[in-house]
Amino acid sequence: MEDCLFCEIIRGEKPAGFAYQDDVLVAFKDIRPKAPVHLLLVPRRHIRSINDLTEDDREVVSEIIFKAGAIAREQGIERSGYKLNFNVERGGGQLIFHLHLHLLGGW
Ligand code: AMP
Ligand code: ZN
Repeated sequence: MEDCLFCEIIRGEKPAGFAYQDDVLVAFKDIRPKAPVHLLLVPRRHIRSINDLTEDDREVVSEIIFKAGAIAREQGIERSGYKLNFNVERGGGQLIFHLHLHLLGGW
């Protein structure tokens, strides 16, 4: 069991505003939103960062990116536009070391 905030959210031990869940990933609202729509897409599998991806993670990463587009459409922000952002390690702004994709939009 990982001692990790996002793992705890995924296990249901900490609350979050879930927007989407499946077997591979979850999406929930960022607690300090930097845009009108700010969701985090998080694989259920604990992966530290983009630096730690292995061949086994190819499908997971693909799924996160495809699902980001689908969620943007569901949120009605696909035409106005949005940003997809992976922060990588401390110098890249990563504070939570469980891989996640920021989906920001709705301006
Ligand atoms: P990063 O800086 O890329 O690691 O992003 C981590 C993000 O997680 C930040 O935007 C935080 O606001 C967000 N965050 C931290 N704690 C929580 C939480 N309990 N629920 C939802 N989002 C969180
Ligand atoms: Zn984790």
